[in-house]
Amino acid sequence: MKRILVTGGAGFVGSHLCERLLNEGNEVICLDNYFTGSKQNIEHLMDHHYFELVRHDITNPFMAEVDEIYNFACPASPVHYQYNPIKTTKTSVMGAINMLGLAKRVKAKILQASTSEVYGDPTVHPQPESYWGNVNPIGLRSCYDEGKRCAETLFMDYHKENNVKIKIIRIFNTYGPRMHPQDGRVVSNFIVQALKGEDITIFGDGTQTRSFQYVDDLVEGTVRMMSTRDGFIGPVNVGNPKEFTMLQLADEIIDLTGSKSKISYLPLPQDDPMQRQPNIDLAKKELNGWEPKINLREGLKTTIKYFDELLLSNK
Ligand code: NAD
Ligand code: UDP
Repeated sequence: MKRILVTGGAGFVGSHLCERLLNEGNEVICLDNYFTGSKQNIEHLMDHHYFELVRHDITNPFMAEVDEIYNFACPASPVHYQYNPIKTTKTSVMGAINMLGLAKRVKAKILQASTSEVYGDPTVHPQPESYWGNVNPIGLRSCYDEGKRCAETLFMDYHKENNVKIKIIRIFNTYGPRMHPQDGRVVSNFIVQALKGEDITIFGDGTQTRSFQYVDDLVEGTVRMMSTRDGFIGPVNVGNPKEFTMLQLADEIIDLTGSKSKISYLPLPQDDPMQRQPNIDLAKKELNGWEPKINLREGLKTTIKYFDELLLSNK
């Protein structure tokens, strides 16, 4: 049995990861400051004998004897990470320093949840890990993009200077149950709007693209990455390469919900990337044949069911 720390464990992805790690027979410490996460996300794990919950902010040091650390604490939705941009950078940078310091002290292996945002508004398409990106250092998204880029730098330097065992994954747009209904990200926004019969808000003309990964595929890739051979540290893209425009996503959600919602167009936010698609050759090679299994339609059905029940229970 391993003792595993999951930072951001009460968030959308973190809660699924905690569940998976517990199911595999590990002891899990879930650390969160509940900025965007909630106790409801991990309510079903509370009674588990090997589950521990800690309210803590990773911008402050934390000490625990653990074997592995999954560093997932950081708001991921543009609305939330732009709410307090200085705090977002602190969470990525000081959080990385604190968690890497802990990994160094207790000789734990540590995995960083990095992001496709390190590629910014990419001029290379699809994006391989070797692409250095096209990021505005002073824009609305910089607090997140540059924070995550700096975290990758810190991970590499702790590895090179202090021999800390690191793994870095670059996560592409992921969706699924337990996203916050007011999260502001496109999949949850469109589903909630469709279920409520409200206008579906497309930013810009809707021709920008994203590649959407269902959360179970991400969790599988993440867990596999942690157990890759010692010499492989990444970064590695973990995402679903099937690419969609936001107009296609809206159509699919309207179709699946049978909604009467209309589409309304709002201005495109500053520095909103026009295209995004992972090259996953490296993941397939190094993550033991991993590749996404759940297509958009299938994943959306499960996610719609989740939000439908959530909205009904909140009535
Ligand atoms: P989320 O907002 O649901 O989860 C983030 C969690 O971190 C929340 O529970 C939040 O309360 C917690 N948190 C935030 N700041 C903290 C702090 N200072 N100290 C302690 N806890 C803190 O987002 P998510 O989608 O689950 O994302 C999880 C991780 O995966 C993030 O690091 C994000 O950058 C990364 N990621 C996610 C996606 C995606 O599409 N979901 C894509 C790329 C990267
Ligand atoms: N978007 C949209 N309507 C919304 C929310 C988002 O059209 O209600 C667009 C947004 O402008 C972006 C894409 O959907 O082009 C994905 O946005 P999200 O916030 O989910 O993630 P990110 O931009 O970080 O990939």
